[in-house]
Amino acid sequence: MENSQPDTTTQLLIIGAGPYGLAMAAWAQDNGLDFRVVGYPMQFWKEHMPVGMLLRSGIGWHMDPAKTHTLSRFAAENGVELERGMPIALGTFIDYGIWFQQNRAIDVLEQTVARLDRSAEHFVATLDSGDSIAASNVVLAVGVRNFDHSPDEYVRMIPPACLSHTCDVVNPADYRGKRVLIVGGRQSAFETAALLCEAGAANVELTYRHDTPRFETSDWSWVPDLVERSVADPGWFAWLPENEQQEIQQRFWSEGRLKLEPWLEPRIENDRIQLHPHSHPVTCESAASGGLAVGLSDDTVTVADSVILATGYRVDIGRIPLLSAGNLFDTLETDDGYPQLDDHFQTTVPGLFITSLAATHHFGPFFGFVVGSAASARIIGAGLKNRISP
Ligand SMILES: Cc1cc2nc3c(=O)[nH]c(=O)nc-3n(C[C@H](O)[C@H](O)[C@H](O)COP(=O)(O)OP(=O)(O)OC[C@H]3O[C@@H](n4cnc5c(N)ncnc54)[C@H](O)[C@@H]3O)c2cc1C
Repeated sequence: MENSQPDTTTQLLIIGAGPYGLAMAAWAQDNGLDFRVVGYPMQFWKEHMPVGMLLRSGIGWHMDPAKTHTLSRFAAENGVELERGMPIALGTFIDYGIWFQQNRAIDVLEQTVARLDRSAEHFVATLDSGDSIAASNVVLAVGVRNFDHSPDEYVRMIPPACLSHTCDVVNPADYRGKRVLIVGGRQSAFETAALLCEAGAANVELTYRHDTPRFETSDWSWVPDLVERSVADPGWFAWLPENEQQEIQQRFWSEGRLKLEPWLEPRIENDRIQLHPHSHPVTCESAASGGLAVGLSDDTVTVADSVILATGYRVDIGRIPLLSAGNLFDTLETDDGYPQLDDHFQTTVPGLFITSLAATHHFGPFFGFVVGSAASARIIGAGLKNRISP
């Protein structure tokens, strides 16, 4: 690696072309940086969210650091009806991301970075094609895909052929005629149940350890101000006393996890959907009628052809393949799976920045959502200005 000549060199390499990567690219473009973006635009949204999903976030959450190419402007220019308080369709948001990329004229190299190394002079990203890019700085905006969480006890219990995580449930029609057990009881579990039933699943049962969340509109109105505060004072969240950090985390959790969107309620009231609060799977064997007989801790047995884990995401940067394959992972300091970051998203490897969900430990839970994407770009940009003279 050290002796071969890179195919391209750049000041800034952005890895990932979801909202955070595209926001970063827009900032770099506006500030005259020489940069490259590698990834497939909006790939996670296209390939790992279910067709028909509705967003929980509002019209005001966009990805433009310059605040010009907003979701509202996209809607107005394209005759898309967006109403405050009405959920946004997944397809609309994907279209917005692509429109953003095209209208901001962001060139994206549609490949995957297989590994990232550090040589004496620069970072070297090796692409799937075998080509390489040398960069003085790298922003990792690889999102959430690598962090899907499947609890070990279920992975051991359920045969792999019958088990999936919600991030792989993309086409609800694949479940037509099937009996499905969903493990988990938050918005994603309930919405997946509704989508599968509407697509013709025979029945869907949900098992979850807690109370059934209440159907109530989440209030995110307080979030944009905190995100904006991060631009003015990037370290504010990290330096809060622990109890105040936890208060914010708890408020975010309550809005996101203790509530289900009211538009789901009529879709769940369906005699093909059965809820098992305060329960979890404890046994699994082949059912006489075919499929699996899964015993739940509430002493019921449910027969299912498929078990879907709606068990969320858990950050562990050791699971990002391009880092574990390269030579710099061991020099990255981490804290419980999260990278240690400075107030500009820079890791302990100078010039390497990590954003989005992996940065929430330092910057707060908002940075796991689109609302943080433009702010992240501006904060990283301020840090880059100390390292690059355009
Ligand atoms: C079911 C579900 C529903 C959600 N709903 C909402 C919502 O309503 N509102 C909201 O704000 N947020 C929502 N989120 C969170 C949302 O996913 C994140 O806010 C958003 O995707 C973060 O953007 P990102 O650019 O960091 O990540 P991503 O959108 O995941 O983009 C990262 C990109 O990096 C690419 N990539 C990864 N590795 C490589 C590599 N080695 N080489 C090149 N490219 C690579 C990926 O292909 C991907 O396209 C939801 C998440 C889930 C799972």
